[in-house]
Amino acid sequence: MKILVVNAGSSSLKYQLINMDDEQTLAQGLVERIGMGTDGHQSCKVNGEKVLDTDVAPIENHVQACNMMLDALTNVTGVVKSMDEISAVGHRVLHGGSKFSESVIINQDVLDAIEENIPLGPLHNPANLMGIKACQEVMPNTPMVAVFDTAFHQTMPPKAYMYGVPYEYYEKLHVRRYGFHGTSHRYVSKRTAEFLGKKPEELRIITCHLGNGSSMSAVDCGKCVDTSMGITPLEGVVMGTRSGSMDPAVVEFICNNENLTVSEMLNICNKKSGLLGISGLSNDMRDVDKAAREGNERAQLARDMLIYGIKKYIGSYAAAMNGVDVIVFTAGIGENNNKLREDVMKGFEFLGAKIDLDKNNALIPGKAEDAIISADDSKVLICVIPTNEEIAIAKDTLELVSK
Ligand code: ADP
Repeated sequence: MKILVVNAGSSSLKYQLINMDDEQTLAQGLVERIGMGTDGHQSCKVNGEKVLDTDVAPIENHVQACNMMLDALTNVTGVVKSMDEISAVGHRVLHGGSKFSESVIINQDVLDAIEENIPLGPLHNPANLMGIKACQEVMPNTPMVAVFDTAFHQTMPPKAYMYGVPYEYYEKLHVRRYGFHGTSHRYVSKRTAEFLGKKPEELRIITCHLGNGSSMSAVDCGKCVDTSMGITPLEGVVMGTRSGSMDPAVVEFICNNENLTVSEMLNICNKKSGLLGISGLSNDMRDVDKAAREGNERAQLARDMLIYGIKKYIGSYAAAMNGVDVIVFTAGIGENNNKLREDVMKGFEFLGAKIDLDKNNALIPGKAEDAIISADDSKVLICVIPTNEEIAIAKDTLELVSK
């Protein structure tokens, strides 16, 4: 069975076609600059090799982008003869609000609910909806599934998801912590248990998803009990371009002094802050690391802030779960940045977590694999488990359409 995984952004459509018999990716591609009035761009890789990478005439809308995706899969790469070979489509959807605690087959009610959640995910949900509707238009007979970034975190107890503002804002406006990267935290925590030969119910796991966007989760007995991102993905540790948590009064203070509106300031918090804003150089941890090694003090500060933030979450989540059995690193930085893992874990012997530097450094950046990197006498296991959100989405999709 072949499952197509789609991640639609406001001006892009990312896709991956997966053969579920062996979980191999048959093709992955990207259609970019949709609806921008400029030339579009499309690329597609088969077996990691680029078979398509070209500018194209302006792409008007997501329907046209979907047609280009299908053309790439059938005529250009030939990985499928016709779109009838695609059994189902799994869509990544950012915000499921409190309504979705798991993936669902898309019907009109689901579309309505995604729409209702637009105020909570104003940038992503409209784009996700456009992607779903466009795919439905070009593949009217193919079942579609929505997989929500927020769903895994729905098991958090109120004491973890409520903010300390008047309760009426929760009742009226649904203001609460939702958390994101849920598909990754779920996949990685489940995979960690499998890899260790344990049941999820036996483990207290702290998952550190560290990429351009970063989030931390506390997963107790297979269920998420806390996570660092909030009502939006802005909360938590400092990220590539996001500030992470701070006193909300900072926003008003800067707005007043710099004559900015709240939305202008939040845009700065989302797009110009974090590693980029502190270092003044780059949102990419590799650039920040290199500059720090060369003596750039602000790059060093950005790095130190990220590491300190991760350490604080590990400490607090260990306390929240009355202990921790496994600390697991994943995503671009977590999987590939050996030195960052080393620096995060430095000093955690008091918690019973001791990294083995040889095991840690045996991992090759860019070639991440499941691994234990803690010392043999470490009470807490420290692991690296590469995330694979596409496979997780495809598995959910297959499971739901096979019912
Ligand atoms: P996103 O959140 O956009 O999915 P990623 O998970 O790809 O981002 O993470 C991007 C981060 O991962 C960057 O800061 C980059 O420095 C780091 N990264 C990615 N690949 C490597 C690599 N091969 N070696 C070191 N760092 C890497």
